[in-house]
Amino acid sequence: MRCADSFLIIINVKLFHVSSAGNDFNFASFFFSTMGKTIFQKICDKEIPADIVYEDDQVLAFRDASPQAPTHVLMVPRKSIPRVNEAKDEDKLLLGHLLLKAAEVARGLGLGENGFRLVINNGQDGGESVPHLHCHILGGRSLQWPPG
Ligand code: AMP
Repeated sequence: MRCADSFLIIINVKLFHVSSAGNDFNFASFFFSTMGKTIFQKICDKEIPADIVYEDDQVLAFRDASPQAPTHVLMVPRKSIPRVNEAKDEDKLLLGHLLLKAAEVARGLGLGENGFRLVINNGQDGGESVPHLHCHILGGRSLQWPPG
């Protein structure tokens, strides 16, 4: 058996295992989590530039490259969790920290008085496009509900 054959078999076993567990399978997520870094991981590691507005040892916040509101910032954990649906009990403190810091960043950007929206997209129907958990901080205009 050639090396490439055994690699494909390993991929197939992993695919079967994930879909048989009843979870949505996202090839992009699988690929990036096993084979490389997401774009947000590269931003956390300072391998690509971003307009960073806050960082500490657990999270990083930077302006969205395609803003959907006058203020649009993304808050990401440094730990590479693909999406909230895959967060574990052990991530409880990290996710609490992320939310509290998102509100702190929103206040720091002047959104405290008029309000803001925090959004976490999860999976295909949720509109997720980057498989690295992130919380959108949106504000600076009146946001509509329900979302499209
Ligand atoms: P989502 O659709 O919830 O996965 O959100 C991903 C967000 O990441 C989108 O709003 C994109 O505009 C934003 N985005 C993608 N690449 C970058 C980047 N290099 N720097 C800043 N924001 C980015």
